Amino acid sequence: MEITLDVRTLLLSLALMNLSLFFVLLIFRSAQKTYPGYIYWVASILCISITFSLLATQDVLPTFLSSVIGNVLAIFVSVFRLEAIKRFAGNNRLSVFNFLLPLFLLPLFYYFSFERPSTFMINFIFTVPTVVLMLQVAWVLHRSHVESPNAASRVLSVFLLVFSFLTSARLLIWAVAPLSEGVLHNATLNVLSNIALMFFAMVFTIGFILLHSQRMHNEVLNLNVQLSQLHQAIEQSPSSIVITDLTGQIEYVNPYFSELTGYSQQETTGMHTKALKSGEMSPAIYDEIWHTIKAGRPWRGELCNKRKDGSLYWEFTVIAPIRDENDQIANYIAFKEDVTERKIAEERLQQSERKLRSLNQELQQRLDEITHLKAELQEQAIRDPLTGLHNRRYLFEFLQREFGLMKRKQREISILLLDLDHFKNINDTYGHGAGDVVLQETARLLQSITRETDLACRYGGEEFLLLLPDMDCATALKRAEFLRKSLQEMSVQYNDLSLNVTASIGLASHPADGKDHPDIIQKADEALYVAKRQGRNRVEIYNFADIGE
Ligand code: GH3
Ligand code: MG
Ligand code: MG
Repeated sequence: MEITLDVRTLLLSLALMNLSLFFVLLIFRSAQKTYPGYIYWVASILCISITFSLLATQDVLPTFLSSVIGNVLAIFVSVFRLEAIKRFAGNNRLSVFNFLLPLFLLPLFYYFSFERPSTFMINFIFTVPTVVLMLQVAWVLHRSHVESPNAASRVLSVFLLVFSFLTSARLLIWAVAPLSEGVLHNATLNVLSNIALMFFAMVFTIGFILLHSQRMHNEVLNLNVQLSQLHQAIEQSPSSIVITDLTGQIEYVNPYFSELTGYSQQETTGMHTKALKSGEMSPAIYDEIWHTIKAGRPWRGELCNKRKDGSLYWEFTVIAPIRDENDQIANYIAFKEDVTERKIAEERLQQSERKLRSLNQELQQRLDEITHLKAELQEQAIRDPLTGLHNRRYLFEFLQREFGLMKRKQREISILLLDLDHFKNINDTYGHGAGDVVLQETARLLQSITRETDLACRYGGEEFLLLLPDMDCATALKRAEFLRKSLQEMSVQYNDLSLNVTASIGLASHPADGKDHPDIIQKADEALYVAKRQGRNRVEIYNFADIGE
């Protein structure tokens, strides 16, 4: 049987070839992850297949379907190819104009098929946009391989340029010698041009698949480089790194881990991380670790672990879950930093801190004692030890201050000087101890009748001074009388004895009796002398006229 290579057979082969490619690409797509634009390429292959089927059955089908729809679909082929390449190269913007172009050409195809039939015009309307679209594809490919040199894209763009050139040439040839018997005409040129078409269709598809696989290959290569860098980093890491399964069984340890713990890499395979437990940590810590990492969160903290030889070490540990491509936790990875030295140093520091703190406390106690003693000493220095009243030393400091203040304010101030009568007799009769008790009781009485602003002090052996700021002579006299009477009525218990005592009091006031305190004291003393002389147990005022006025 003689087999002739006619154009119909060629066109049908093209249709079948592209249909099978369409299915292969569909399967290929579902089999592995692909890059953007792939679906446009699949769509273009389907369009090619339908276009060639329509052309092959041109004499059977109505002209509208085979010529008008066939040509529109052929334009769609180029639109889809351009879109596929654009997306593959990273431009995800949809070119609406390109998609509307075939529909815009449809009425033209219709017009030149039925109203003013012209094969040349149909070819012209078909060829010009096809060449423009092809050149755009070549441009996108050229641009894309500027960023990452790619042999497949370079070859493909050259083929596109050749294809565009030949398509344009075909238009010229048809302009010079139009096909008298339509597309299915078996002339040598027509057969050759269809074989060339077959060749280019194949090259485009293989080229696109090559682009895909080359890109994938490059990515795998890059990943491999990254992986090997990562592996190197982990192997040479100065921290120990452990990878376990979900149960804590060790799957990988890096050399530093072996160096630190004494377990070789072979020994650790299949070993459980439990073997590293020192027993020094609370079990709650391990519960917390498992709870955290099982929930998909990283755990950070310090752990005390045990080496192969049983010695303990401290490490700062970060344990994190590793997820697989389905986002499920597949492994755990632990990064461990040996902090034993730091821990020991910290422990030492804490000990010294504790010691320092206790020393500090002791020091503070001593300091408090000293401050207390100092205050006591200061107090003792200004107080009379027997009666607890202020002594002369304090009195003169106080007088100076008080007189200054009273002078500034122009207020009065009175002084009572009190001397116990025949006190020597008490000493002589009942003993010195009795005298002391009488002195103490006298002091207590004095204290009880003084205001907060007054000052009672032991002026001498059995002499007392009562300073009454802001008090005039008349009021002071009443106070003195009251004091004298109270003393007279006071009975001092000493052993089984009940002792009584009286006192003579001299009174002088500022400003009437003097400007400064030595004057006033002297005047009070003079008044006291008078009181003694006048028979004791009485109050005398230095200048009696003070009251009269
Ligand atoms: P007069 O009425 O003239 O004041 O007679 P007097 O005996 O009180 O006076 P005199 O100055 O002769 O005696 C004071 C006595 O006070 C002498 C001294 O022994 C006694 N004396 C002074 N200080 C103390 C003391 O701290 N304790 C005791 N028990 N006696 C003291
Ligand atoms: Mg005296
Ligand atoms: Mg006396």
